[in-house]
Amino acid sequence: MTTVDLPLLPLGRGTDLSAERGVECPGDLPAASDPGLVARAQAAKEALGDRVFVLGHHYQRDEVIQFADVTGDSFKLARDAAARPEAEFIVFCGVHFMAESADILTGPEQKVILPDLAAGCSMADMARLRQVEDAWDALTEAGIADSVVPVTYMNSSADIKAFCGRNGGAVCTSSNAEVALEWAFDQKPDAKVLFLPDQHLGRNTAVLKMGLTLDDCVVWDPHRPHGGLTAEQLRDAKMILWKGHCSVHGRFSPAVVDELRATIPDVQILVHPECQHEVVLKADLVGSTEFIIKTIEAAPAGSSWAIGTELNLVKRLAAAHPDKHIAFLDKTVCYCSTMNRIDLPHFVWAMESLVAGTVVNQIEVDPETERWAQVALQRMLDLPGRSHKD
Ligand code: SF4
Repeated sequence: MTTVDLPLLPLGRGTDLSAERGVECPGDLPAASDPGLVARAQAAKEALGDRVFVLGHHYQRDEVIQFADVTGDSFKLARDAAARPEAEFIVFCGVHFMAESADILTGPEQKVILPDLAAGCSMADMARLRQVEDAWDALTEAGIADSVVPVTYMNSSADIKAFCGRNGGAVCTSSNAEVALEWAFDQKPDAKVLFLPDQHLGRNTAVLKMGLTLDDCVVWDPHRPHGGLTAEQLRDAKMILWKGHCSVHGRFSPAVVDELRATIPDVQILVHPECQHEVVLKADLVGSTEFIIKTIEAAPAGSSWAIGTELNLVKRLAAAHPDKHIAFLDKTVCYCSTMNRIDLPHFVWAMESLVAGTVVNQIEVDPETERWAQVALQRMLDLPGRSHKD
């Protein structure tokens, strides 16, 4: 087999091919310094009324999230969009794969808009369809493809979700990864899982929740011949982890955990399962974004926390809970740079364009991809007995 040499997509994918990614936007954006931006955003939202439904991911900037009709993680927002069939336009203040999921779960007449097409996700971009098909060929050559169930994290492109749908697999979120893996291992005798694209969520779930060992896991590196693995290693593995990670959560380190424990008395370390295994092992609590929010809401006054997730959310939690001591689990700034592409000028531009009757930056998943991605999403929705909140 050959390795696939694909161009990097550092800041986006798909439809902004002519742009140096992240630099241009196909429209006249208001200046970021325009003091009237807030009033313009409000006016556009009022003019559109119920025709528009604005979704705001937890990691968005304050300047944008103030205009969201609902806030949440990616899966909650896609479901919220699906529950608003009367909204003609869904303006998704998040990243590209989230807008794709919203397009898949909403009606054909609803239009999903991403205010900046350069708002991609580095983790989602680490698993490209051609690379995954290449890996699947290697599994076939090793004689094990029939026993492999592909499971992809919600944070993946629609074509990777569709790949999982076509090949008997499913989607999972960070809060139902355990039940999704249980389901996957029940699908076939001697089942193995190909987990895409976040190696950390896959490893943390397999080892800490499913009782597998680190030796049961191998990492498929799409940039090395044969994934950097022998056929024997593939045959011996229970979990084949894709070599992808979140550039935000992957930054947190065990050394900073030790440092904070030494400096903040009784601090509790609360992290997202996209963090490295060594960080998760040192944490007190691990869970999805929604879990992190609920944990802080329920925490007693005076308690101390160091949180390992995106900085916009941590800052908002600290502001909302001044009676608790909330620190960030990194010494440097750690925003999601692609999430932060959605700023007020892009939001105003997208909204005012809608008021003027022009749909800009619409995210459309082709029908065949949508059909199979829907199959993988439905398998997740059919998982037994768990909340599917991310
Ligand atoms: S926080 Fe990580 S997983 Fe989420 S959009 Fe940013 S890069 Fe992707």
